[in-house]
Amino acid sequence: MTDTSSHATSMRTHLCGELRSEHIGQTVSVCGWVGRRREHGEHLAFVDLRDHSGIIQCVVDNDVDVRSEYVLRVTGVVRQRPEGTINDGLPTGQVEIGDCAVEILRQATPPPFPIDARADDVDENVRLQHRYLDLRRERMQRNLRIRSKINAAVRDSMHAQGFVEVETPMLVPSTPEGAREFLVPSRKEPGSFYALPQSPQLFKQLLMVAGVDRYYQMARCLRDEDLRADRQYEFMQLDMEMSFVTQDDVLDAVSEAVLAAAEAATGERPAPIERMSWHDAMNRFGVDKPDLRFGMELVELTDVFASTEFKAFASARTIKGIRVDGGADEFGRNQLDKLTDRAKSLGAKGLVWLKCTDDGFDSPVAKFLSDDEVAAVKAEMGAETGDLVLVVADEWETTCEVLGVLRNDIGRPPVHEGPYRYVWIVEFPLFVGHDKETGAPKSGHHPFTMPHPDDVDKFETDPMAVRSIAYDLVLNGWELGSGSIRIHEPALQRKVFRALGITEEAAERKFGFFLNPFEYGAPPHGGFAFGLDRLVAVLAGEENIREVIAFPKTQSGADPMTNSPIAGDPAAMAELGLKILPPST
Ligand code: ASP
Repeated sequence: MTDTSSHATSMRTHLCGELRSEHIGQTVSVCGWVGRRREHGEHLAFVDLRDHSGIIQCVVDNDVDVRSEYVLRVTGVVRQRPEGTINDGLPTGQVEIGDCAVEILRQATPPPFPIDARADDVDENVRLQHRYLDLRRERMQRNLRIRSKINAAVRDSMHAQGFVEVETPMLVPSTPEGAREFLVPSRKEPGSFYALPQSPQLFKQLLMVAGVDRYYQMARCLRDEDLRADRQYEFMQLDMEMSFVTQDDVLDAVSEAVLAAAEAATGERPAPIERMSWHDAMNRFGVDKPDLRFGMELVELTDVFASTEFKAFASARTIKGIRVDGGADEFGRNQLDKLTDRAKSLGAKGLVWLKCTDDGFDSPVAKFLSDDEVAAVKAEMGAETGDLVLVVADEWETTCEVLGVLRNDIGRPPVHEGPYRYVWIVEFPLFVGHDKETGAPKSGHHPFTMPHPDDVDKFETDPMAVRSIAYDLVLNGWELGSGSIRIHEPALQRKVFRALGITEEAAERKFGFFLNPFEYGAPPHGGFAFGLDRLVAVLAGEENIREVIAFPKTQSGADPMTNSPIAGDPAAMAELGLKILPPST
């Protein structure tokens, strides 16, 4: 008797990749695309038939005219492959379908690139121009399916935790999350615009005022920012918000969803997620998204050089180093010059390199260092002969940041190399940097983020030292997402706006619709959003989120398949009251 798979339809009994020795003797029907075809003797040919599940070898009459990517339905009997033709590298490699009746469902034009791993090396524009063919490939099918599993696991977890899925609008007013927005002209009110949402931030907070209590949404977010390996104009977030919670509650709920998603994708549930303060992350790894898969931590050397004669170190606030295990031989003069240029381009005054020898350091600055300093550096860094030590001396933040970048440049393993190291970064500063025009501090996260209660008295005296109850989730050096406990008291919100240089009038104008409802009783609340594209990319072992998005834009924001963006239609433009001016120079 022929069993059928859960993928059986009225046209097929099985998927191509499902057939195994246990099916021998069964008559089956499979559907798919022609991969390779090889002649086999005078009368027969081997045709590899492919669907998303894999490949099955079909033995067909030589006079059946099937070519690459033809769509077939093949019916035949599963049998053991003859000795010598078994392929252990293929899950179906023990069997083949013989006595095949072939039905050509559709002929096909030869594809512009091979529908297999060789297309990895094809120009990305060509892959994206024919994305429907690129997606036919095993790697891309796998990525789409990992993504789907992750989405399902996240949804299941959120429902199990009592979250309610609520959809928020795509046509919204501008929101203050720092990114440039996409604007949508209004036809009814020429000259007025909606924005596409950077995130559902304001709406989800209003859902808390509305008593929804636990909201989530697989939310599409749009930001008009330069594209990178981990950034697209539009991306998906698991967006969530909870009422009557502290930071711990939010972190627990998000961790549960992320760990469930990871388990769905990899089959293994990761360990509970550790936490690290922003200050510790910067101090130890020089970044707020540390990749914990490797060591090379930043080591404090300021005290070692407390009374140094070496000028470049004498006046520096913070001196730190990283040790590259066995790096002395690996890094020649040329590479060290490049590292120095890199450090300078990141804002450091310079980079000191020390190659560790039996007697001391081989370095252009060795002659300025005392014996005690050499011994102390070696001891602090744990440096042994053959190691390379890189030292930066500057303000605390610059020293940390520069070494953080060098650490990543030198030590970071590729994405597909595990293990998975999740970490919560907590206690971010409330303000980061200053607005170039007004000189006012800028929000580290967004203006609705709750200041750390212990730091509220520093608002006037030392605003840059105020911590916030904001947190990021990081996986292997990728920032998966951010969130915070929100301000729910109007008086505190006004204080933060004042510190940000936002006048009461401007706050009312921009966020009145959001803030006034808070007067009707806003519960304490907080939330989070994590980028699904990034999580899927790391779990699928992909360096670029484009590989896990069905129809992404290129680095320059174009879609070669649909040729968008395209020039506006004059009639539509006129209806919207729009006119294109020549680009300003
Ligand atoms: N809206 C924030 C973001 O998209 C996340 C949050 O604070 O919930 O990064």
